[in-house]
Amino acid sequence: MANRPGVRARFTLWYGCALIVTVLFVSGGIYFFVKQALMGQVESHLRKDVATINEYVKNDPGNLAKVAAHGPILLFRVSDALQSIVISENWNREGLEMTIPASIKSGELLSFQVANGKRYRALSSSTEQRKHTYQIVVAHEEESVHQSLNSLAIIILLILPLAIAISLVVGYFIAGRVLEPIRVITGKASGIGAENLSERLPVGDGDDDEFSRLAVVFNQTFARLEDSFTRLRRFTADAAHELRTPLAAIRSIGETALHAPEDQVNSREVIGSILEESDRLRHLVDALLILSRADSGDIRLHQETVDLSDITMETVDLLNVLAEEKRQTITLTSSGKVMVQIDPTTVRQALTNILDNAIKYAPAESTIYVTVGTRSAREVFVEIQDCGCGIPDEEIGRIFDRFYRVDKGRSREYGGAGLGLSISKWAVENNGGWIEVESTINQGSLFRVVFIG
Ligand code: ADP
Repeated sequence: MANRPGVRARFTLWYGCALIVTVLFVSGGIYFFVKQALMGQVESHLRKDVATINEYVKNDPGNLAKVAAHGPILLFRVSDALQSIVISENWNREGLEMTIPASIKSGELLSFQVANGKRYRALSSSTEQRKHTYQIVVAHEEESVHQSLNSLAIIILLILPLAIAISLVVGYFIAGRVLEPIRVITGKASGIGAENLSERLPVGDGDDDEFSRLAVVFNQTFARLEDSFTRLRRFTADAAHELRTPLAAIRSIGETALHAPEDQVNSREVIGSILEESDRLRHLVDALLILSRADSGDIRLHQETVDLSDITMETVDLLNVLAEEKRQTITLTSSGKVMVQIDPTTVRQALTNILDNAIKYAPAESTIYVTVGTRSAREVFVEIQDCGCGIPDEEIGRIFDRFYRVDKGRSREYGGAGLGLSISKWAVENNGGWIEVESTINQGSLFRVVFIG
């Protein structure tokens, strides 16, 4: 990628361009208005002089020659249709007679440059006196106007680059000041890594500017990252801990068998215990695998319209063996076909975990009620109700957390690692549903899985 100049340099560049355009416009405007004002002054002089000469022609023609020789009006010519009648001395001296044509129209205002290079502005006017038409032409040197304009142009040209240079330096400095928080944020953010995710970027004290908001957004992101990291660390630690227990059990069973006298070892019993522990391991690893694939988004849901009663019946059939072992009865009630669009595999997994819990935590010879139904125009549900030990109110919110078990000893006795309900929650929520729990200690629990039908 081509090396782009930094924001500070770009800001200064754009600022400089805008400044140059503005200064050029302003200077051009000043030059134009000063020129107009100076020319306006010359013109008003000329008009006054024309009026004065006109007065002489009208009332005092005899004195015109005196004026031509001694002023106060220095540059004028009075002529009739045939020839010049009075010409001021300066008019001739400056060579205006040769330059300004006799044909100049009445009311015309023109600029001329005479042979010696001087510039003049002339105004012509005609007047009717004593049945004669006289043409009066008055001139005024324009040189002072041009000198003033040249001086102005020089001043502008000298000040312009200086002003632009000073402004660019100031602009560069201001851009640096404005971007300072970004520098601080970048420096601090680059130092935050996995090991110090609890650090935060400085937020301007009480300021609600863009940089403070940026820092706040970054801080929120860091907080979410920190939270994910903490949960990941806890998950890994919990998983390792859970894996260690059956492994330690297998090792201890093996060691005991190895060190016991040969005639006292019941190989079938030892193998049975090892198989039991490895089964526990397999379940745990399966659950961990499901959760890690769920976290990384690897599990693709294939949603289709299915009968929730069918899915529930399959689940009941699958787990009936476990219930029979505890001489429990599972009663399934269904209000006909309950059609819903879900991924059957993950929903079956969710129901299996909940029903498995009901079987585990309900006493032997009890009845587990499973009901499939519709509770409003759009909500369909599966209820799994047991009359087991129940869950304390304050724990209900936590039973869906990973590795969370209400009664650790009892749960482990049933082979649970506290992952079943977190898998169910993930599965149901990813199918657009949710799980409701009602439970009373020593009376039983009701888990209701609800989907939008
Ligand atoms: P586990 O594999 O330990 O059963 P779960 O995630 O399935 O883990 O459940 C979390 C905890 O919630 C269980 O350890 C148990 O204490 C409690 N629990 C779940 N279902 C029931 C139930 N039907 N009756 C009583 N307690 C339950």
